[in-house]
Amino acid sequence: MASDAFLAMIAALRTCRACDDLPLGPRPVFQLSPTARLLITSQAPGTKAHLSGLPFDDPSGERLRDWLGLDRERFYDGSRVAILPTGLCYPGRQPKGGDAPPRPHCAPLWHPRVLPQMPAVRLRLLVGGYAVRLVLGRATRLEEAVRNHARHQPRHFPLPHPSWRTLVWEKRNPWFAAEVLPALKLAVAQALTE
Ligand code: SF4
Repeated sequence: MASDAFLAMIAALRTCRACDDLPLGPRPVFQLSPTARLLITSQAPGTKAHLSGLPFDDPSGERLRDWLGLDRERFYDGSRVAILPTGLCYPGRQPKGGDAPPRPHCAPLWHPRVLPQMPAVRLRLLVGGYAVRLVLGRATRLEEAVRNHARHQPRHFPLPHPSWRTLVWEKRNPWFAAEVLPALKLAVAQALTE
């Protein structure tokens, strides 16, 4: 049962209007509960998630679920799995193509308010370079952090973003599937069951 403080925080987050220049307007996309044991800090929602309000309901989400060893039912069980992006609203497009970076003041504004209200979190997945640098430091190199994931456990597990671009990267880096993904599945299973 969520506390009044938790519900008030969720209500404030849903109505956040701190960014008044977002191309599609503010619509924070997240999945949070005070009982979640696995926390996924990702990048920022795309247009599909902006419209539906459901994070990772796309091929990237399918790939992420495959990496984690979770089916849709368990992934979207908000009582066990939380999703808190680095930037909670769709940030728009970059002039050269691709989505713009997460809004830089979103995580400093919201993460310190949200994280203390999630005391059951055992493992936080840092999905993509923005999340990795946010939590592990701006100088952190994504590939190095992923390769050395054991150094960041048991609290954090750095990962690349599961976009289609990562398929090419995975082919060039077979150690990811051979060594990192089995360790990831084990860490996720332990976080959800122990
Ligand atoms: S991106 Fe973050 S800070 Fe900006 S309106 Fe959305 S929730 Fe608020």
